[in-house]
Amino acid sequence: MRPDLLNPLFAEAASLKGVGPGLARPLERLALTRVRDIAYHLPDRFVLRRAVANLDEASVGEQIVVALTVREHRASSGRGPFRAMAEDVLGNVVALTYFGRSSYTARKQLPPGETRWIAGRLDQFGQTLQIVHPDHVSEESAGALGQLTEPVYPLAEGLTQGRVQALAHQAIGLLPDLPEWIEPGLLQKMGWPAWKAALTEAHRGENPLARDRLAYDELLANSLALMLVRASNRERAGTPLQGDGHLRAKLHLPFELTGAQKRAIAEIEGDVAQGAPMLRLLQGDVGSGKTAVALHAMLIAVEAGGQAALLAPTEILARQHHATLTRMAAGTGVEIALLTGRDKGRARESILMGLMDGSIHICVGTHAIFQETVSYRNLALVVIDEQHRFGVGQRLMLTQKARRTPHCLAMTATPIPRTLTLAQYGEMDVSRLDEMPPGRQAIDTRVVAVERMAEVIDGIGRHIAKGGQAYWVCPMVREQESEDLAAAEARFALLRERFGDDVVLVHGQLRPEAKDAAMERFAGGAAKLLVATTVIEVGVDVPNATLMVIEQAERFGLAQLHQLRGRVGRGSERSTCLLLRGDALSETGRERLALMRETQDGFRLAEEDLRLRGGGELLGTRQSGDTPFRVADFEQIARLLPLAHDDARLLMERDGGLASPRGEAARVLLYLFERDWGVQLLRGG
Ligand code: ADP
Ligand code: MG
Repeated sequence: MRPDLLNPLFAEAASLKGVGPGLARPLERLALTRVRDIAYHLPDRFVLRRAVANLDEASVGEQIVVALTVREHRASSGRGPFRAMAEDVLGNVVALTYFGRSSYTARKQLPPGETRWIAGRLDQFGQTLQIVHPDHVSEESAGALGQLTEPVYPLAEGLTQGRVQALAHQAIGLLPDLPEWIEPGLLQKMGWPAWKAALTEAHRGENPLARDRLAYDELLANSLALMLVRASNRERAGTPLQGDGHLRAKLHLPFELTGAQKRAIAEIEGDVAQGAPMLRLLQGDVGSGKTAVALHAMLIAVEAGGQAALLAPTEILARQHHATLTRMAAGTGVEIALLTGRDKGRARESILMGLMDGSIHICVGTHAIFQETVSYRNLALVVIDEQHRFGVGQRLMLTQKARRTPHCLAMTATPIPRTLTLAQYGEMDVSRLDEMPPGRQAIDTRVVAVERMAEVIDGIGRHIAKGGQAYWVCPMVREQESEDLAAAEARFALLRERFGDDVVLVHGQLRPEAKDAAMERFAGGAAKLLVATTVIEVGVDVPNATLMVIEQAERFGLAQLHQLRGRVGRGSERSTCLLLRGDALSETGRERLALMRETQDGFRLAEEDLRLRGGGELLGTRQSGDTPFRVADFEQIARLLPLAHDDARLLMERDGGLASPRGEAARVLLYLFERDWGVQLLRGG
């Protein structure tokens, strides 16, 4: 149960004054649903204004506060702006300019002949000085001068700075005093304020110590929760699995396992033989051969008389895994079924029966395989592919499914930096596939200006004529998803004019049947060119596709580009990746593309991605490898996470049940950041 003292923070945002139906939507867009969210909606930056006696003291572009006397109103004809012409004490003329409906208020606030204190940015329009939409207009000097430092909040359409400021002010007023969860020695050493003071301060001024403390809280909550998961997992009853190897002996893979694959399999074999359930992450770059490792793990479970389930993040991937595993396991007598949300009626019934009576040994599917209605005779191992798509909470839910906790193998192809591995997977043991299967060739990566698109399309034509296949990737990172989709559809139409039925289109909003049909045509070789948004990012394997074009490549993060590029270079043919770039290329954009050309090492690219993004650059919101944090930024994660991790470990060692006063405080922290699944795992928690 959530401690009562947090109740004011978990009240609905709608309970604040001034939140009507009109604000509901914008608040939702910013994920501000509770008072807590608003309290933690911190300013991006602060405007610093300078109070000046007259405009000669100010320069154009500067944020100022100045006393001005209004002389006359000038309403323009038609839809032009409204201007209140005003003078400073020296007689310098400045136009206070308003567009749209705000001019009604402005007329009232700025009566001719009166003096007002004005806060805003001094600009120049032709020969005249002007202040467009002053931030503050007040009769008293105090009103404007009190605003010399002002927060600037992230906004969504329908919200204004004033509105958010007012809400933040209310939220701060509701903050309870919370017990201190940070170790006193550390708190003192860092010079951090108490929680409430830190949050208040973070809205008022740029105190980096306050922001750090808040970030640290979040990181500590995360580390602690992950450790609780781990500790509770150790105490759970799992089923030790001893595979005798009879199924694995019947496998006839067309290749020799790499050393890294053998090591990973041995680690898994060691884990599942234990009483405590395995919680292992298999980290391996795209193409490093995770599927074969997963198959071995699942066969161990089946050899030991259990069942295994493989969970894929998308329908496409589930199908592909099912096909691959069925092919690999042919001749072993192992029964492998595919179960997705789309399976209905009799087919579904028969799969459900098979899972219940144990005649199906391995079940591959989307989250449908863990629905209420699905029960297993003896689920011994769960493999989760592309781990980053699933949160820890979901992971926990999965393992609740069986009476005895199944062993869990999570697989990710996102080579994330070490610091983030700790943050995201801190509760797991890690096996790394740090060796690629032999015979892979480097992917020839080139950056091409978008003006040369016609040449690129000709190149695709030649590639297809020689029997090759290709991908064409369009970005999906804009705020307005519909615009991106329109762009992808338009590109598809253009390419179709040239290549006709050889082209198929796949994007996230297609009906699943249409998506699968397109994918199947491409995978089977009937279609030659696959135009796609980033849905192909994860896992798709078509070795004959050796050419990839990525449009507006500068809009993707490095990690994501790397993932995309990994779709080619899967066969023995030499592959090419063309990064089309627009003309407006930022410095980081340029650097990013250069790095892509330079290296294919996913772990290096991940580190560089962190560095470039830590430099303050924000990409689209749907980046893969995004952090699980709201408060802590990249730089803070890199700097503070190791501290938080050690601190959490120390606390767990001293007080694993979180029963001491500091432990109690830590529980409050976990609820505050909704990492309470950690607490719930505690006995009596
Ligand atoms: P990922 O780690 O991206 O899931 P996959 O398991 O899809 O990689 O493997 C990529 C390709 O490499 C597949 O075509 C697979 O058959 C092949 N492969 C896997 N292991 C080896 C190996 N040891 N030697 C050669 N090819 C391999
Ligand atoms: Mg894979």
